[in-house]
Amino acid sequence: MFRSPRGTADILPADQPYWRYVESTAAELCERFGYGRIETPIFEDAKLFNRSVGEATDIVEKETYTFKDRGNDELTLRPEGTAATCRAYLEHGMHVLPQPVRLYSVNLPMFRYDRPQAGRYRQFHQVNLEAIGSPEAAVDGEVIEVAWRLFAKLGLKNLTVVMNSIGDASDRPAYIAALKKFYEPLQSQLCGDCKRRFETNPLRLLDCKKETCRPHTENAPHTLDFLSATSRAHWDELTSSLKALEIPFTSDHRLVRGLDYYTHTVFEVVPQEDGAQSTIGGGGRYDGLIEQLGGKATPAVGFATGMERIILNLKRQGVTVPGQRPIKAVVLHLGSGAKPHAVSLASSLRESGVTAVLAPGGKSLKAQMRYAESVGAAYALILGDDEVRQGVVAVKKMADGTQQQVAIGEAARALL
Ligand code: AMP
Repeated sequence: MFRSPRGTADILPADQPYWRYVESTAAELCERFGYGRIETPIFEDAKLFNRSVGEATDIVEKETYTFKDRGNDELTLRPEGTAATCRAYLEHGMHVLPQPVRLYSVNLPMFRYDRPQAGRYRQFHQVNLEAIGSPEAAVDGEVIEVAWRLFAKLGLKNLTVVMNSIGDASDRPAYIAALKKFYEPLQSQLCGDCKRRFETNPLRLLDCKKETCRPHTENAPHTLDFLSATSRAHWDELTSSLKALEIPFTSDHRLVRGLDYYTHTVFEVVPQEDGAQSTIGGGGRYDGLIEQLGGKATPAVGFATGMERIILNLKRQGVTVPGQRPIKAVVLHLGSGAKPHAVSLASSLRESGVTAVLAPGGKSLKAQMRYAESVGAAYALILGDDEVRQGVVAVKKMADGTQQQVAIGEAARALL
């Protein structure tokens, strides 16, 4: 017996209403904020992610699915949305459009070789949002607002926005120097990953979740204390606009996020009742990325949230979502002469907007009726040779067992 690969999941009909609900709510909201939908390919040139996400990040070091195709091109299954969207922005010359260019995507599969657990998969799906081409703190605020309103609209409660500013490339050297000075005497106490990070990517020392490293991160220097006046003004403008929008947030000096490309704002949305692993969405500003990919310097900010994680929280919080369309009518048929008429009756019901299925053939009327009950149909429509001869159909209302005869051509109207 085959099983789906570890860390992947089938999305079965019973779960589809959740997916549809998240997808349509997100699409409607993003479009109301003026974002246009984009879909990029599932795989990209491997170098795109090495160069953007960063060689010394967990994603690129341990989590990418990279392979050579038959033409010997090295490709990577997309592990996140931002790099691919920026690649598309450059490839299609979107810098000539009015800036910022606001783009969103929903239901995009992402692939990371993660250790599977609740809410953590190797293939998962994201809602992504990118506003490319504006340095304004108001746009950071807008992206955070979309994220916040999305969760609120979906009906999720008890979430918090956690924020930090990591400044820009010119603020970074002084901060990194202070951070390394702080960690220097602690090196022997750090976990293996952090020992490596100290050399390759010191900023990431701060988001280590291991017990051995956590106490140190608490006492580490704050990026906010190393911001230039311009970076500080950006942070102050953003935090005051969030206050004006009544979006509750806390700031956390340990939040730096895993990817190399962030500048200034970084944020995450986390459920209050859970531990640090359960981030539901996150994002930030990435002013250097487009230039790193070969474009001219272009400020940008974005957000991503995992649909599996949203659905997990919807279920945990008991949020009800609009259900699957129920089957309204089952068409029963007795005798070989009636079957083709039943096939065309079911077909014309569907054309009229009624959800209808044909009862399984070769079964007694009683067995077909049991089938109609088991699928939860509201009506059973019965066609035998007599009905076909008279051009009528017997319509049985399953709720109370009442039955009436109607002309075949009138059947759809009798059910609406
Ligand atoms: P990240 O790009 O790591 O900041 O992830 C953004 C969001 O994607 C997270 O907050 C999660 O909701 C979701 N996510 C990230 N990795 C996974 C995963 N392995 N499985 C499911 N969802 C994920």
